[in-house]
Amino acid sequence: MSNDYSKFVLVVSGPSGSGKTSIIKNFLKENNDFELSISHTTRHKREGEIEGVNYYYISKDEFENKIKNGDFIEWAKIYDNYYGTSKKEIDRILKTEKNVLLEINIDGLLNAKNVFKEEIVSVFIITENIDELVKRLRERNSESEEDFLKRIKEVEREISYINFYDYVILNKKGKIEESVKALRNIAEAEKIRTKRLKNIKDRFFGGR
Ligand code: 5GP
Repeated sequence: MSNDYSKFVLVVSGPSGSGKTSIIKNFLKENNDFELSISHTTRHKREGEIEGVNYYYISKDEFENKIKNGDFIEWAKIYDNYYGTSKKEIDRILKTEKNVLLEINIDGLLNAKNVFKEEIVSVFIITENIDELVKRLRERNSESEEDFLKRIKEVEREISYINFYDYVILNKKGKIEESVKALRNIAEAEKIRTKRLKNIKDRFFGGR
C-alpha cells in the first residue's frame, strides 16, 4: 500500500470517562490506515485490560530508568502515575504505511508537537457536560474515591487547554456512532489537505 498523501500523527485526548477509548476502538476497526501507539504506564491494570493491547504495564523504577535512557518521545505524570510513548513503538508504526494514532493527554500533545511539528492533527473528545462525565466515571467504578476526585480536578485543567486542539468532538450520550463518524471525517479531510497531497500536479498531467 502506498499513500497519495504524506502521513500525519493523529492525537486524541479527552478526560477519563469522555468515551475516547471506545471511539478510538471503533474508529480503528474500520480504518486500517491508522495504528494506535501502545503507551507504557505505571498505573494498575483495570479489569478487562490486556498487557500489550491497552498499555505496557511497568513499575515506577522501570519507567524512571526508561526516562533516563531517553526511551520516550514524550511522557507525563498524571494522577501520580507515569504514562509515556516509547520511541520503539513509534518506530514500529513508522515502518508501516500507517499513520500513528496517539491517545495521550495535553502534556503529551505539547511535547509531541515539538517532535512532529506540522504533522500533528489533534482532537479533543468530551461529553456534553460535566454531569454526564461525573456519571460515567461513577459507573466505571474502577477507581477509589481519591482517584475519582483527582480525575475530576484534572478535567478542569484539561478543558483550559482546549484551544490547543484542532478539533473538538462532543460525545453525546448514546450517540457513539456519531462521534466515531466525526473522527473518521476528520481523518479523511486531513488526508486530502493540499499540503499533504503528493505530486498532485504531476499526477494530474500524467507526468507530461
Ligand atoms: P487512563 O489511566 O484513564 O488510561 O489514562 C489517563 C490519561 O493518560 C488519559 O488522559 C490518557 O490519554 C493519558 N495517556 C495515556 N497514555 C499516555 C502517554 O503515553 N502519554 C501521555 N502524555 N498521556 C497518556
